[in-house]
Amino acid sequence: MNTLNVLVADVAIDRAGQTQYTYAVPDELSELLTVGDMVNVPLRNRQVLGFVIAIATREKPEYRLRNVSMPKQRVCLTPALMHIAEWASRYYRCSLPAFLNAIVPSPVRKCISLQKTRLVNKLVISEEIQGVLTKRQRAVYDALPDYWLTFREACLVAACSAGTLDRLLEHGACQQRYESSIQEQRLEVAAEDHELTEEQQRAVSTISEQLALEAYATFLLYGVTGSGKTLVYMDLADQVIQKGKQVLILLPEIALTPQLAARFRQRFSRVSIWHSGFTDGERAAAWHAAAAGEIDLIIGTRSALFAPLPDVGLIVVDEEHDQSYKQDSSPRYQGRDLAIVYANHLKIPIILGSATPSCETIQNARTGKFEILQLKERPSGSALPVSEIVDMREECKRQHKQAVISDKLLEALRETHEKGQQSIVLLNRRGWTPVVSCPRCGHVFKCADCDISMTWHRGSDRLRCHLCTKEQTLPDECPICEYPELAHKGIGTERLANLIQEQIPELNILRMDADTINKRQGHADIIQAFGRGDGDCLLGTQMVAKGLNFPRVTLVGVVAADQGLAAPDFRAAERTYQLIAQVSGRAGRADQPGRVIVQSYDVAAPAIVCALENRPKTFFDAELAIRERHCYPPYHALMRVLWRSEDPHLVARIAQEQTKRMQEHCHDERLLGPSPAGISFMKGQYRWHCLVKADSRQAIQHFIKRITNSHVLAQIKDVITLIDVDPYEFS
Ligand code: ADP
Ligand code: ZN
Repeated sequence: MNTLNVLVADVAIDRAGQTQYTYAVPDELSELLTVGDMVNVPLRNRQVLGFVIAIATREKPEYRLRNVSMPKQRVCLTPALMHIAEWASRYYRCSLPAFLNAIVPSPVRKCISLQKTRLVNKLVISEEIQGVLTKRQRAVYDALPDYWLTFREACLVAACSAGTLDRLLEHGACQQRYESSIQEQRLEVAAEDHELTEEQQRAVSTISEQLALEAYATFLLYGVTGSGKTLVYMDLADQVIQKGKQVLILLPEIALTPQLAARFRQRFSRVSIWHSGFTDGERAAAWHAAAAGEIDLIIGTRSALFAPLPDVGLIVVDEEHDQSYKQDSSPRYQGRDLAIVYANHLKIPIILGSATPSCETIQNARTGKFEILQLKERPSGSALPVSEIVDMREECKRQHKQAVISDKLLEALRETHEKGQQSIVLLNRRGWTPVVSCPRCGHVFKCADCDISMTWHRGSDRLRCHLCTKEQTLPDECPICEYPELAHKGIGTERLANLIQEQIPELNILRMDADTINKRQGHADIIQAFGRGDGDCLLGTQMVAKGLNFPRVTLVGVVAADQGLAAPDFRAAERTYQLIAQVSGRAGRADQPGRVIVQSYDVAAPAIVCALENRPKTFFDAELAIRERHCYPPYHALMRVLWRSEDPHLVARIAQEQTKRMQEHCHDERLLGPSPAGISFMKGQYRWHCLVKADSRQAIQHFIKRITNSHVLAQIKDVITLIDVDPYEFS
């Protein structure tokens, strides 16, 4: 009985409890609406947003179905993105609508009104008119030229009102589109029309063959810093774009996008950048341009993975080892891993590029899951830098004090400056001093809301908590015993810059850390200034190590190289290795030889020694053996459960109870904990955690399914419980 059938849409709505509802598709949308469409739907007495996850003809139900409607600008996710969202929401334990909301930027979801943004609405006449025009409308139509105009221009040209233009749009006599006025910083770079080296050529050919197969494969492009990975990406991008497909290039850091975008723009015209520093208008414009097929190549951070490109033909994850690919708030996805899932689904090749691949990737390459393509030489012919390690225990004895900078590093900084060359100094801690305490009673200035000491920032004369950003002034005396001389312990970038400046007054130092960067552009302005030659020395936290190419830098100094090794994190050694190898690679990239000076108390740590001597195999062999012995990734899979609450007793009790219940659902999984987290008190909440180790990621997924089905981690009032699959954060 046909008459009783109706066309319905299942819509996913982000709310607590039930998240899927069925609505009727009205006739006018029956041809248009597809899975992936964002729709407005009534829920109780409100209008809410949802995403269509299924469309079907079903028997008309007893109750009255309410209608879906379209937002004023269509937002539709591609089938591939819908697939990724479903996969990721299952894998990372987030509801599908919550994941969809996270990947469709809020200005796009809200259909940000055009006046509020810098989007420009333009229109042009259509060749054919579908409706019947009135005489007046026809006259306006005839008066309009056949190129794109803004609404205001069109009103002036045709001497009409905006209302008349709206009528023309309704009759299909005109089309409109939104053009961006993205105010991104554009850099000038030299053209790179180099002949490929033999190694580059081999990499390009291998991946081209894969492109021709239209099948999935992951390649690890393992090339020392400055080996010309970008040129490989460009050649392949060219092939993909020629075929009418799009290319997605992911980078770990906003600040790297302008530099890389400039290089790609030398060769391609429809390039867009994509990162979290966008204004609402820029973001909406970039989104709609990508969806409309107006973009061939996107360069962006993690979230660019969800750009609605219609037909992605190649994905590149540059600096694949970088931790910023893991999102540290919900949904806690790993952008690199998800990019691989995406490529697999799209049946396309994906390239992971790095000079210092992650242990996971190295292992995948060793077992043959990924194909390794190596670039061992720098095309410029420049040698890898010469490196030296300074034993700070010796240095302190020699200087008869707690030395911060070695004479060797100071001397090298001076020399480099005199030769008119630039230097980079890395110290992975910001502020003036990380600890201020009373030498008499031992009182340490700690954050009232977090269990960590507050860092003193001399520039702003404030004590600041680096976890919650709470601030206070530093009193003249100890608040407990009134002792007048407080002791400063340790050193941050602010103080290091000051110390170097005292010793070398003529050195122009640019400081780059979270305190000096601009939120919207990241540290792009500082990088550009330094690249232009403003400043002799770039001094900062790990940001100075990331993927930058400065031809005039010939010296790199690392202060407190062993500082990160003590972190309670099984990736501490890997991270130290990567940081030192990466920053070393910044020295001597052009015709000048480079020099690296590393200061450390621990001069035997394999992570430091192997990075300096460029012996990655030795490092990976040793590190992977440790991982295997202690059952860590890449040999085993992990999941972390974190409980947070303002009530210390409640959170401890719930963590213990729920862990005990999890234990009952273990097969071969091992539970470590529960215990107070490394940072046991943060932003006013007490924290407990527990780590689950399993033989495979699949085993972790099965385990989560079992505990979810038995409601082991049921929400408890006043306690927040969260699951982190494949965690990168353990504090
Ligand atoms: P990576 O990304 O591997 O660190 P880049 O792609 O930034 O390296 O390349 C480093 C430098 O080498 C760039 O200035 C680039 O223009 C140059 N370069 C790359 N390939 C070649 C080549 N085949 N011949 C000459 N110079 C090249
Ligand atoms: Zn705090």
